[in-house]
Amino acid sequence: MKSKLVLLFLSLSLIGFSQNNPKPKLVVGIVVDQMRTDYIYRYWSRYGEGGFKRLVNDGFFCKNTHYNYVPTYTGPGHSSIYTGAAPNVHGIIANDWFVKETGVETYCVSDDKVKPIGTTSKNGKMSPHKQLTTTLGDELKLFTNGKSKVYGVALKDRSSVLPVGHAGNAAFWFDEETGNFVSSDWYVKELPLWLNNFNAKKLPKSYLERGWNTLYGIETYTNSIVDDNKYEKAPNKKEKPVFPYDYKSQIENNSWGILKATPWGNTITKDIAIECLKNESMGKDDISDMLCISFSSTDYVGHSYGLRAVETEDVYLRLDKDLEELLKTLDAEVGQENYVVFLTADHGAADVAAYLKDLKIPAGYLKEKNIEKELKSFCKKLYGDSLIVNMSNQQVFLSSVKLTELKLNSDEVEKALANKLIQMEGISEAYPSSVLKFEGYKGDSFKSLIANGYNHKRSGNVAFSYMPGWLDIPETGTTHGSEFTYDTHVPLIFYGGGIKKGESVRNYYITEIAPTISILLNNPFPNGCTSKPIEEVLKK
Ligand code: ZN
Ligand code: ZN
Ligand code: ZN
Repeated sequence: MKSKLVLLFLSLSLIGFSQNNPKPKLVVGIVVDQMRTDYIYRYWSRYGEGGFKRLVNDGFFCKNTHYNYVPTYTGPGHSSIYTGAAPNVHGIIANDWFVKETGVETYCVSDDKVKPIGTTSKNGKMSPHKQLTTTLGDELKLFTNGKSKVYGVALKDRSSVLPVGHAGNAAFWFDEETGNFVSSDWYVKELPLWLNNFNAKKLPKSYLERGWNTLYGIETYTNSIVDDNKYEKAPNKKEKPVFPYDYKSQIENNSWGILKATPWGNTITKDIAIECLKNESMGKDDISDMLCISFSSTDYVGHSYGLRAVETEDVYLRLDKDLEELLKTLDAEVGQENYVVFLTADHGAADVAAYLKDLKIPAGYLKEKNIEKELKSFCKKLYGDSLIVNMSNQQVFLSSVKLTELKLNSDEVEKALANKLIQMEGISEAYPSSVLKFEGYKGDSFKSLIANGYNHKRSGNVAFSYMPGWLDIPETGTTHGSEFTYDTHVPLIFYGGGIKKGESVRNYYITEIAPTISILLNNPFPNGCTSKPIEEVLKK
């Protein structure tokens, strides 16, 4: 009886919610690639009033939001934000992974069956077909019988394709061979006219002609360490990692890829998002639309220079300006109360390990290739064969053919390898697949994060993780991918119609974004969604 009353109360309050708050005409998802939560605070005094500060001050800031799985990479991150599920369900277990059936590695959005549109390069052969569940956009399309408009824009193909999902109108991404934004025939037969016109403007060239200098006097970048330091490496390796940067030689060589590691990569993403919004008349009627935007340049800059660099500070200060322009355009085109924005990140990032070591903080470097070599010789000694067919994303894949041939018990081999792994330097945990597949976990143990990232069909025989602060990269720049808070803790801000003002320190998971947006839209949740909506952000 009591539970029936609670249910009645719950459904009444949901009805009350939907009556008082008309559903948004437009949802804008913003993912800032590699943004750590502390970038909100570290650069706070440097941001203007109209970008990050506007979202935080007038929206709802979930200050304690985390990824609930490993690996914390771009492909799985974007998938989880828009599907409300972890890789164990949506199947995007990494950016690239080893396919057991074929014995070759595959990229999360590559698709040989589709044709590139707007380019002849293989960079256009992308689709979401490896993503096993629906996204927010897919559910919008289903709910409105295709009438909702769903678009995605990003420099990175995976950051545009995975959010839009299977049934969206189109994903557009940057083709560094031509310097154009392109798509595939999964979505469209040809690029829309507005995009052809956009590409004809050759914005990558005009942006790169500006070079890159700091937005403000370099002496004001006191939230960062000195510009010229040994922990950074410019993407063009010959160059010193110091301001000002000049891109004349890249322009002469048509090397448009350099755009990715400059703030202009974000600016052009803002430009195309605004073009898409206006030309596709998004948010103009009562049928809700969705625009998925991902800013990738923050990730390329972070990888090259690390998280204490003047370059990183500057790319955020400039992104703040791009956000301000985007929000102003939304106000003008859609109206402040008619749209809802969420801003988050696909993962955080680790400090440069060499920098931590210099501060006497535990950290280190290892190489997965060396671990593989050591494990292979271990197997050879024990079983007469190296047995390992692939090592990737901190997982070991064994040859099932060899295991059968040699009449080996795979559970025992996996256990022996896990035991060997945890004795190695820089490795903290290792689990045989049987543990990840069949044991239950409570809470946020690292083991449960590994299990949430473990897909029964696609993942390997043994999964392991590094020690906190340990990285598998050269000694400059940084990366991400681990289960530690520096990689899992990301900002999450909701803003706009139907959203309360406020903040919370409750622990939320990235998979709770999709059901929250679904509730705002009165829409079914994405079909693999494993999480509940975040109630405290919604106006009652
Ligand atoms: Zn990323
Ligand atoms: Zn520098
Ligand atoms: Zn990255």
